Amino acid sequence: MRRLVIMLLAWPGVAGALAQLDLDLRLDPATREFAAKARLADSAGLRGFRLAPEFEIVALSIDGRAARPSRRGAVVTLPRGTRQVDVRYRATLKPLAALDHREVLADRSATAAPEGSFLPAAAGWYPEVGALFSYRVSLSLPAGQKGLVPGEIVKESDGADGYRAEFVFAEPVEGIDLMAGPYVLAEHRLKLPGGHYVKVRSWFHPELGDLAPAYLDDSARYLERYSRLIGDYPFAMFSIVSSPTPTGFGMPTLTYLGRDVLRLPFIRATSLGHEILHNWWGNGVYPDWPRGNWSEGLTTFLADYAYKEDESEAAAREMRMGWLRDYAAVPPGEDFALKNFTSRQHGIASIIGYNKAAMVFLMLRDRIGKDAFERGLRLFWQRHRFKTAGWAELEAAFGEASGQPLADFFRTWVQQSGSPPFAGADPDFRIWRRIDPAVFPPILREVFVAPEATVVAVGNDAELRAAAQALAARLLDAKPDAVVTTLPARGPALIVGKANELDAWLAARQLPPRPVLKEGSAQVWAGRDGRGRPYVAIAVADVAALKALMRPLPHYGKQSWLVFDGARAIERGIWPPRAETAASGSR
Ligand SMILES: [Zn+2]
Repeated sequence: MRRLVIMLLAWPGVAGALAQLDLDLRLDPATREFAAKARLADSAGLRGFRLAPEFEIVALSIDGRAARPSRRGAVVTLPRGTRQVDVRYRATLKPLAALDHREVLADRSATAAPEGSFLPAAAGWYPEVGALFSYRVSLSLPAGQKGLVPGEIVKESDGADGYRAEFVFAEPVEGIDLMAGPYVLAEHRLKLPGGHYVKVRSWFHPELGDLAPAYLDDSARYLERYSRLIGDYPFAMFSIVSSPTPTGFGMPTLTYLGRDVLRLPFIRATSLGHEILHNWWGNGVYPDWPRGNWSEGLTTFLADYAYKEDESEAAAREMRMGWLRDYAAVPPGEDFALKNFTSRQHGIASIIGYNKAAMVFLMLRDRIGKDAFERGLRLFWQRHRFKTAGWAELEAAFGEASGQPLADFFRTWVQQSGSPPFAGADPDFRIWRRIDPAVFPPILREVFVAPEATVVAVGNDAELRAAAQALAARLLDAKPDAVVTTLPARGPALIVGKANELDAWLAARQLPPRPVLKEGSAQVWAGRDGRGRPYVAIAVADVAALKALMRPLPHYGKQSWLVFDGARAIERGIWPPRAETAASGSR
């Protein structure tokens, strides 16, 4: 899950006075009726605002005088010299549709339902000036519902007559997302190392109540960790909010996650920390979009990658190897420089903008040392908190913290695409470079995602053949329509058999023997034959053991081998990589 960045491509200057939005709104999720009173003020003058066409303007006054709106589509134009505009407007919002994750990300309309309402900033549901602004939002919902927007909660009441809350966001912000639902609240007050207090709160659907304590604890742990590393968390509140749709959004002061997503164990272990860290990198210091978005790389390095380092050096190395494996598959013509990364639109962009950038921060830390690196992080934060900063400002902070000139380093890794020629030895995968794909140990995914693949069932058991066919339909992108009994001369293959029959079959074809693994009910491993063809072999005790792999096995594409006991993976791992020389033998 990644964060969706809603960005304005051209940043206005942040230094001047900010427009201020005061919004008083009422939402009834059952009828989907939305009504609001907005006051937009800017001492530097307002030329107009945008409000999505489905929001009907009921009344408008300009600098205190009633006026007829001059509106074309979403754009409302104001007379020169306007300093303040008051707008009353309303809409019947769309109902909540059953959408999958991709559709949720693409759909930007405001939706309402008792189960959950979501008004994303991109829906244009409030008067928007097209520049950074600050706001106060006062929100009113019927009894049984609760809701929020990013920011600090300054007033709150809940009773038989409904829920009311007021939120203030005093720092420059790019948009407002509103969420409401039948939430049950849990809260925790945390004192940060620098002395500030933070309210950590969960807004969960009632059935998720049992998850709240763990989410509050883990959020507090991440807030403390990054406050200690970088400087205190810059806001007064952090919320975890559940959504009825399978979303994953990060916004300043909160993260909005699907009900089912919240139940996944890796969310708390990884994604939650990543989203929390974006309150420093992304929502605390704003990337200088036209000159490259460094915030995903720095967040990946200090969250996803740092958690692997916490686990073990082996786990961290595995992640680095995975990054370089993905990079080896990027066609050279599609490679690009880090300065050209803005947001993740496709897989290659994430290989550069997330993984390469994270590796660049690792190489920088390796070069200047951990202490200087962490001093540089703090310096960068102190200087650019709630301001826009780019790679050049990072270079300056790390240069100053380390006392080393870093111009060459940043030119090579940020301004230029690819990597300089590499001739040394780096068995630990700490240097970004293009590696011959044959160096990487085989993993299951190579066969899982191959556009064409053959399924071979060893032996004459019709039931096993049927089970192999069903498993292949779930595992393989290639979706082969038949199971064969002989291995074709080329092409990726999934080979399935009972252990003893498979042993004889492999030997007869001069394929490497079944590896020595724990017994279990099924063993699964990836290999390559003498010509480099990838295959996955599955040795089972019986047909039931094969059927048991249906649900779990698709999730283990990044592994080289696994041992299952029924549906449970009891051991797994990645084969060691080959040495990075032409003369190296096969494993
Ligand atoms: Zn991110």
